[in-house]
Amino acid sequence: MNRTHAAARQSLLIAPEETRAIEHPDARRPPDKAKDDLIAHSSGYLFRSWGEIVARIGEAEICALLLDFDGTLVKLQKRPWDVRVPQRTKRLLERLAGHPKLFVAIVSGRRCQDLQTRIGVEILHFIGLHGAEVKGKDTRISFAAAKCLARAERAVRARIDAMRGMRVENKGKSFAVHYREASATTARAAKACLLDLVAPLKHTLRVLDGAMVWEVLPNEIRGKGGAVRDLLRELPHGTPAIYIGDDGTDESAFRALNGQITIRVGKAPNSHAKYYLRNPSDVIRFLARLEKEIA
Ligand SMILES: [Mg+2]
Repeated sequence: MNRTHAAARQSLLIAPEETRAIEHPDARRPPDKAKDDLIAHSSGYLFRSWGEIVARIGEAEICALLLDFDGTLVKLQKRPWDVRVPQRTKRLLERLAGHPKLFVAIVSGRRCQDLQTRIGVEILHFIGLHGAEVKGKDTRISFAAAKCLARAERAVRARIDAMRGMRVENKGKSFAVHYREASATTARAAKACLLDLVAPLKHTLRVLDGAMVWEVLPNEIRGKGGAVRDLLRELPHGTPAIYIGDDGTDESAFRALNGQITIRVGKAPNSHAKYYLRNPSDVIRFLARLEKEIA
C-alpha cells in the first residue's frame, strides 16, 4: 500500500481529537493496569475538585446531567448484549431523573430502544446512535446516505464476518464492528480491511473509534457533540452541564461543552475532558454524591 492510500485510510477516522490510538486489550498486562496507564493526570481527578463542581451547580435552577452508557454507567462486557444495569444504578438514575433541579439524558452509540429496555427508567431522556436517534423525535438519514451505508455494510460483512471474534452489528442508521472477542492480530487485520472498504465512501461515511468497537455512520449524523449542543439549546440559557463519557466517541461532546463539567472515565492523554473518574464504580459514587449535594 502506498503512503497516499494509507493516509486516506487513516483520515477516515474522525478528527484526531475525537479518536484515540486503536489499541487492543489483548496486551499482556492485566486490564486494570492498562487502564491505570491511560490516566495521564493532565486533567484533575474529579473528587479533588468537588468545591468547583458544587459552585457551578449550586446556584443554577436546572443542571443538565448527560451520561454515556457503556464503560461509563456500566462496565464494558466482552459481549455488549450481556450488559446488565444493577438495580442500585437504576434506582439512582430514577431518583436523579425525577429531581426538579436535573435534566438527565443518556447519550450513547446504542439505539434508544436498547437503552430504554436495559435501563428501564421511563423518565430518562435518551439520545441514541451518536445523536441520530432522539427519543420522542422522528429523526432520519437521507436516502443517499442509507444506500451508501448498506453498500458499506455488505462489503464489510463479506470480509470481516468470517474473522474469528469479530462481529458486525446493524443499527439501522449506522453499523458497528465489534472486536472485543478478537485477538490483537485479527483486530489489526480487521481495522485495515474496514478502513480500506470505507475509504472510497469517505464523503458520505466516517468511522468512529469507540471502546472495542468501530462505528460506521453517515457524516450527516453529527455525533455526540452536535447532539448535546442541540439539547442544551432547548434548556434555559446558561444551564450548567455535566457530561461523563469513556471513549473517543465522547470527545466531540467534551469539546462542544468546553467550559462545562466534562469528565472522562479512565482518562486518556489529550482528552478534552476537564476531569476524570477512574471507572464506572467511581461514576456511581459521583452520582450518589451529587444526589446528596442537591437534596
Ligand atoms: Mg462508552
